[in-house]
Amino acid sequence: MTTMQDLKSKCDVNWCPGCGNIPLWAAFKNACVKEDWNNTNSCIVAGIGCHGHIVNFTKMTSFEGLHGRPLPVATGVKLANHKLNVFVFSGDGDSLGEGGNHFMHACRRNHDINLFMHDNSIYALTTGQTSPASPDGFVSKSTPKGNIDNMLTPITLAISAGATFVARAYASDIPKLTELMIAAANHKGFSFVDILQPCTTFNHVNTHEMYQKNTYYLDDTHDVTDLDAAFKKSREWGDKKIPLGIFYKVDKPSYESKVPQLQGDALITTSTDRPNMEALYKQYA
Ligand code: SF4
Repeated sequence: MTTMQDLKSKCDVNWCPGCGNIPLWAAFKNACVKEDWNNTNSCIVAGIGCHGHIVNFTKMTSFEGLHGRPLPVATGVKLANHKLNVFVFSGDGDSLGEGGNHFMHACRRNHDINLFMHDNSIYALTTGQTSPASPDGFVSKSTPKGNIDNMLTPITLAISAGATFVARAYASDIPKLTELMIAAANHKGFSFVDILQPCTTFNHVNTHEMYQKNTYYLDDTHDVTDLDAAFKKSREWGDKKIPLGIFYKVDKPSYESKVPQLQGDALITTSTDRPNMEALYKQYA
């Protein structure tokens, strides 16, 4: 079974104190231990942003791609070895700005991969510029007089583009986020979890306090198979009106299930007679 020790890398965590990336990462590791996800059966792909450091802090096969491009890489990984659990970590700038095109097409193709979006509603790695998920009127280095763009709601976009599992979580509710990550991974098709992840250094609007005060969980009266109900809930945002949980979940054939060549063994598997790489690793350590 996978243990926390198995997931420990040699890198020290350098996210800022209080950053929502820290509990998000904790939830993912909890899920790895509970579900036995590790180097032998899983792969993580990240884009560019503070979120991308997760590949350094987690000992698992990983790839950190170009800005906005983790989804095409993850798609390639899944096609090469469809037996793998593929987890994509991306930011709101990464997936909604630079990678908006890829986001839309990954949703509509229903690839069997999982996108966990670190949504801090700002470009944080570049020290605080307005992102597509920043609220209307948001004041930042790039919009000192207030954001004049309309805020993009990723949940609405994912549902309309064809994602078959769409959820929202708050990073610091670690047990619930762990549960949602597992539910996303167990879903066959494109799973998207919009994770509200406060950036304590640069975003003083979308804070832990704001989310703790204004979020609530969807209950059993919400029918996750009802597209209209999911749309309606996805448009809620404001005082005491930020829903969390699963908005939409339907069973449809995944992209991979429709490709004849992927109905048997993986196209590429890990060879058991790989050359010993230790000497090479040491050279670059
Ligand atoms: Fe987290 Fe913001 Fe610091 Fe980046 S800048 S590590 S998102 S608190």
